[in-house]
Amino acid sequence: MILKNYIRDIQGFPKEGILFKDITPLLLDPEARNECLKILLSGVENLKIDKVVGVESRGFFFGTLLAQELKLGFIPVRKPNKLPYETISASYDLEYGTDRLEIHVDAIQKGDRVLVHDDVLATGGTAKAVCELVEKLGGVVVQCNFLMELTFLNGRDKISNHVVFAAMTY
Ligand code: AMP
Repeated sequence: MILKNYIRDIQGFPKEGILFKDITPLLLDPEARNECLKILLSGVENLKIDKVVGVESRGFFFGTLLAQELKLGFIPVRKPNKLPYETISASYDLEYGTDRLEIHVDAIQKGDRVLVHDDVLATGGTAKAVCELVEKLGGVVVQCNFLMELTFLNGRDKISNHVVFAAMTY
């Protein structure tokens, strides 16, 4: 199975100059979804992990699947003012704009070993902010994993202090 066949390129979304990687065909197909999940799991074999963090919103899909397979808790990192309990936040740059991300203060215990998941590693600003949130709460990021990495944007450089794994690379 060729996973990339399930990623649809949308030119000019959400604004001009962006080639958007649409994962909805992958979400539609249970076999492709399973294959993708297996690849992500192969990247965390032998790693000791306590919790999985998924980034709003497309990091929630495989983030929860990963947490379920690994029998671990799932933590959503969300856009501002979405989480109801007390939060901490970090600012980040997107490939198309800037924003802030939040996490519940009690989601991570000191020393927790955390797997960070999102759909796309682009410039790395999002992942960097998420790692900062995890670390602010005393967690240790054991890996940042992604469905795909857009290597030409050098996102790895922004999170060079962390292990990066991607199921697909472009
Ligand atoms: P970045 O912070 O630049 O690494 O951007 C990563 C975040 O933005 C992820 O949460 C992605 O969902 C989203 N993103 C950035 N670029 C793209 C793209 N070309 N296609 C789809 N999603 C993207």
